[in-house]
Amino acid sequence: MKLRKVKIMIYIMIGIMGILLLAMMVTKILVLGYIVSATLIATAIFERLYWKCPYCGRFLGCLNDRGKYCQHCGKEIEI
Ligand SMILES: [Zn+2]
Repeated sequence: MKLRKVKIMIYIMIGIMGILLLAMMVTKILVLGYIVSATLIATAIFERLYWKCPYCGRFLGCLNDRGKYCQHCGKEIEI
């Protein structure tokens, strides 16, 4: 899977979590909180599985503060 797709998927999942959280606050339906927690865990697992360097295969972590380079092998990451 391309890193750009992975990034979009993560943003979509965060968006869903935000909407569910808002819906929970408005409707006071507690079950939505559990769904938010489950989505959060799923997002974390998804990120761990797919958010990795295409060159060395290690977890990329946050790219924003280190620029577009892998912190492990130093190769440029195209997103
Ligand atoms: Zn790397």
